[in-house]
Amino acid sequence: MANALQDGFGRTIDYLRLSVTDRCDFRCVYCMAEDMRFLPRQQILGLEELYRAARLFVGRGVKKIRLTGGEPLVRRDILGLCERIAALPGLRELVMTTNGAQLARLARPLAEAGVKRLNISLDSLDPARFRAITRTGELARVLDGIEAARAAGFERIKLNTVVMQGRNADEVLALVDYAVARGLDISFIEEMPLGEVGRSRGEAFCSSDEVRARIASRYALLDCAEQSGGPARYVRLPAHPASRIGFISPHSHTFCASCNRLRLTVEGRLLLCLGHEQSLDLRALLRRHPTDDRPLVDAIDRALLHKPQQHDFSASGEVQVLRFMNASGG
Ligand code: SAM
Ligand code: SF4
Repeated sequence: MANALQDGFGRTIDYLRLSVTDRCDFRCVYCMAEDMRFLPRQQILGLEELYRAARLFVGRGVKKIRLTGGEPLVRRDILGLCERIAALPGLRELVMTTNGAQLARLARPLAEAGVKRLNISLDSLDPARFRAITRTGELARVLDGIEAARAAGFERIKLNTVVMQGRNADEVLALVDYAVARGLDISFIEEMPLGEVGRSRGEAFCSSDEVRARIASRYALLDCAEQSGGPARYVRLPAHPASRIGFISPHSHTFCASCNRLRLTVEGRLLLCLGHEQSLDLRALLRRHPTDDRPLVDAIDRALLHKPQQHDFSASGEVQVLRFMNASGG
């Protein structure tokens, strides 16, 4: 195999987040506007293009691929794509981030297709609040989906919660209790300023330090050096060894120094950093060179030299990046 991908700061890049759709059956308040317009079909990568992109990156040393979106489970034939990507020689793990709404039906087939771990978003355990945050989501379906995922034999399941003052910050302990009772991991995410979603984000901002203090009021916490290959910092609960708690803190704790990730949007833009607009138009290259991989690999290697050292989100919640999260691949 060729040398591993390296950026201009010597960071090894071995993790690709691949967005398989910009569409979603939810409209979470932090992610989308209420009336979203989605991309026309010809602008998004076809299944064969997604597979080819995955194959190229694995050939250049990517060990982990996360399928995301939008909601990956609304993409037609997602199971076939999972199966083919999971079988790529050299890939260590295929994982997925999902809102969980389709998991009651799809958890087992996904595990059988080779998806090793799942991140499932869960922002509230109260049906009315859950509906208010997701605008269209039904909590009971997601909870059923989580149970189906537990029964399907994934290596690990992690819940993801975006914490917002006035919406769910007072549920942090209840969510930890829920995760701990089931031996699941849970990560709490600070809201990121991606896309204009029709409200000010600054007011709702809740720092990871505050979330941690809330959890520490009930649970003893032990810092740990563990890394999942993603941006979360983890703590363990000595009394509940099966669960870990993660904090994803783009505002308060810069995670850029250890960044090992790239994102490919469903339009085929290779994003070098979630917080910057620099990108490579891989779709154009995929279509211009349908059989010759060399120009694509060369372009990827060159683009990597321009991966920024760090993002520069500010806690005021002002929009700096015009993309919506669903288009970036969360
Ligand atoms: N639809 C799937 C889901 O919700 O899990 C996958 C895509 S979603 C964009 C991926 C993750 O990004 C979710 O955990 C979601 O909560 C998070 N997310 C979306 N918008 C965000 C924002 N503005 N700030 C922080 N996290 C965000
Ligand atoms: Fe859909 Fe996920 Fe965005 Fe919510 S966070 S609107 S579930 S893509």
